Amino acid sequence: MNISFIAHDRKKDDMVQFVTAYEQVLKEHTLFSTGTTGERIMEATSLSIHRFQSGPLGGDQQIGAKIAENEMDLVVFFKDPLAAQPHEPDITALIRLCDVYSIPLATNMATAEILLRGLQRGDFKWREIVKGNMEEGRQ
Ligand code: PGA
Repeated sequence: MNISFIAHDRKKDDMVQFVTAYEQVLKEHTLFSTGTTGERIMEATSLSIHRFQSGPLGGDQQIGAKIAENEMDLVVFFKDPLAAQPHEPDITALIRLCDVYSIPLATNMATAEILLRGLQRGDFKWREIVKGNMEEGRQ
């Protein structure tokens, strides 16, 4: 599965803790992130992550583009609900695209835990079917 990680500044420690706890599961998948979030994760784990731009510099939009291409299967986005972000429109657009394409999205650690357990259990197999159908539709 293709999985993206984004964490606002005051949530980055939580993200590092979360990804570290699920490192063994996540190493079986293809991982993406915004710039600084990915840097922090890679410093703390042995995971390899494709890093996009930092969020305020377009990283959220780059992940959104992957969603629009149906190339993202899960988004873990630890948003800071107590601080305004300069790139709020990009954040709203990313969440909207997850809803447009029915992409599982966790915006806090409690939801992320449940989605990761689903991933471990094989609950994301339906994504392969959706992707297969999209490919056929394009041909
Ligand atoms: P960052 O971007 O990982 O580069 O900090 C996340 C954000 O703040 O949107």
